[in-house]
Amino acid sequence: MATIHNLGFPRVGKRRELKHAVEAYWAGDLSRTELFVKGQAIRAQNWALQANAGIALLPVGDFAWYDHVLATSLMVGAIPKRHQDDNETVDIDTLFRMGRGRAPTGCACAASDMTKWFNTNYHYIVPELHAGQEFALTYTELFEQVAEAQAIGHQVKPVLVGPVTYLYLAKGVGEEFDKLSLLEKLLPVYQQVLTKLASMGVDWVQIDEPILALELNEAYLTALSKSFNVLQGQGVKLLLATYFGSVTQYLPQITQLAVDGVHLDLVAEPQSLDTISQAIGVDKVLSLGVVNGRNIWRADLSAVYEKINALVTKRAEQIWLAPSCSLLHCPVDLAQEQKLDPELKSWLAFAKQKGSELALLNTALQTGDTQAINQYSAPVKARLTSARVNNKEVQQRVAALTTADGQRHSSFNVRIAAQHVALQLPLLPTTTIGSFPQTQVIRQARRDYKAGYLAFADYEAQMKAEIRYAIEEQEAVDLDVLVHGEAERNDMVEYFGELLEGFAFTQYGWVQSYGTRCVKPPVIYGDISRSKPMTVQWTTYAQSQTNKHIKGMLTGPVTILFWSFSRDDLDKPTIANQIALALRDEVVDLERAGIQIIQIDEPAFREGMPLKASQWQEYLAWAAYAFRVSASGVKDETQIHTHMCYSEFNDIIDSIADMDADVITIETSRSNMDLLNAFEEFAYPNDIGPGVYDIHTPNVPQVQWMKGLIHTAAKKIPVQRLWVNPDCGLKTRAWPETREALKNMVQAAKELRQEL
Ligand code: GLN
Ligand code: ZN
Repeated sequence: MATIHNLGFPRVGKRRELKHAVEAYWAGDLSRTELFVKGQAIRAQNWALQANAGIALLPVGDFAWYDHVLATSLMVGAIPKRHQDDNETVDIDTLFRMGRGRAPTGCACAASDMTKWFNTNYHYIVPELHAGQEFALTYTELFEQVAEAQAIGHQVKPVLVGPVTYLYLAKGVGEEFDKLSLLEKLLPVYQQVLTKLASMGVDWVQIDEPILALELNEAYLTALSKSFNVLQGQGVKLLLATYFGSVTQYLPQITQLAVDGVHLDLVAEPQSLDTISQAIGVDKVLSLGVVNGRNIWRADLSAVYEKINALVTKRAEQIWLAPSCSLLHCPVDLAQEQKLDPELKSWLAFAKQKGSELALLNTALQTGDTQAINQYSAPVKARLTSARVNNKEVQQRVAALTTADGQRHSSFNVRIAAQHVALQLPLLPTTTIGSFPQTQVIRQARRDYKAGYLAFADYEAQMKAEIRYAIEEQEAVDLDVLVHGEAERNDMVEYFGELLEGFAFTQYGWVQSYGTRCVKPPVIYGDISRSKPMTVQWTTYAQSQTNKHIKGMLTGPVTILFWSFSRDDLDKPTIANQIALALRDEVVDLERAGIQIIQIDEPAFREGMPLKASQWQEYLAWAAYAFRVSASGVKDETQIHTHMCYSEFNDIIDSIADMDADVITIETSRSNMDLLNAFEEFAYPNDIGPGVYDIHTPNVPQVQWMKGLIHTAAKKIPVQRLWVNPDCGLKTRAWPETREALKNMVQAAKELRQEL
């Protein structure tokens, strides 16, 4: 019988207990001891959920107070100097300081960088390593947690971020050096950990090396081989875990690694099972990641059974079953959802349910009786043909899309000339990115309306008052292109998801984004369409209050797609095109209602990039096309803007140009306009609004400073094509600093119009 194991479980808790506990600790409302008790309770609950679902080997070390990569840094003693005074002990506060910076601000102890964990929406704290880096076993919560689980009676399999992946993800600071040169110093710490775990009676340890899903150079492959050579023989068996992508191209190398088992993500692996089974000899455990660990869909167990039955019979004991990757990226328990329609609910499975799926599958594999899995999988099959999912009209419209649908009528040069005539904007036009401060009053009104305490008429009146206020403020500081302020939106994706057909929302479907921050992504379950205009009323109301141009504000198709849980029965380009067509109708409606400038935000454009660089071009082509479909229904005179935050543009600048937005606004102020180099070198042809101030702090930027930035920008981009705007939306700011900052920004633009 196959062993069922799990690579990791969501650590946030069923009701985000971890978030609440950690934030209470930060606020001083919870003592450290109390925090530890809460953590222990969450772990116990998680293990119980998994064990009850039928998982035999439980992960330990997947729990982290803030982030598991950060926890690894602490374990191996890679603590930046600024976060640890010589006499300071390393404890949980060290960990939080590294993740969040040290209060009060102003000292030289900024948080470490945070970046995306592969192609998920989880963010890890980037380890900072320097040339002379030393490592030492420093913080050993892992051992306590292993003991904790053992005391409950669980059979455990500790999980470690593999040393090579750890180095790969780290950033070198100080003088340049080869990160892999640190491997030799790092491995002894891992050896110590393994030896200790062996002494605790641990049988198996899971070493995560997800970098195998990337395209690696020889040096990394050699490092992996060396790493396992050193780590073997410490008294525990090693399971190499790979996930998030196919490792086909490295099977020959993986075969040679000194490991006792290999986990593969079968959801992402196109290779035939025979080939895999031949590569991973029967002397090793082959762990099959058969249930998708990063979506919320019920698995078609009948199909999985068909796929793996022969192999399981053949390999007998040497087969394990698991989700494809850690369930970190999945909400905890579907059973909590009280408001989902029963049909829709029958299509879903969260972390706990995914464990049960493996148990069900295992029983069928063992007995050959497939009745239970067939019954379980029936809703998955029903979903494919359900009327809720399928909308013929939408399908036909997407199928009929042509190249021309993704093209504006005329080229940029022709368009911009027409826009100059139509819009009559000054040199260096000033604008904002869309949102204005989301005050307590605004949030309360939205909550009350949603909960049914506030009638629509009252809600509408209040939102209109907010719009009027935002417009008065913008007129007072004399901005050129105004926005309505987005008061009615709690979230830039959720707002549109709620208005579009094909989306559903959960009550507790939280997943960790970073630290204590969780997101609750909408679920795209069916063909997407727009039954009525989504923003036209608010936008035209705003336009009715001013003689200046109001810029309409939409979230783009790529961002809506990647910030949602999307369907597994339809390819991503098709889903993106469905969203794009719905947005295209909105864009055309806005134009018809007299709105001459429309922004389609795409902050997630870069996030969708596949892990393997060889697949980037294909992705970028369909993503840019979907954007253009949303934007191309309008006349030449109508100006389309897009916005992206914090993106690096060097390697994708041709695709940014391919999006063909008339104006792109980007976050540049903290890079001192360096991000513009990519645009300069590429000779990016369209208009650009490089952000001239950071919106993440309440500091009011000074006129001279912003003038300096715009000067720098004008050396790289012809001034006729420059816009002046903040880095991003202002929803997290308060009015006083917003007002002052924008006043200074407009002042800077005005002075430069005279000087340039
Ligand atoms: N229009 C959005 C805002 O201003 C853009 C947010 C974003 O870029 N993430 O808030
Ligand atoms: Zn932004």
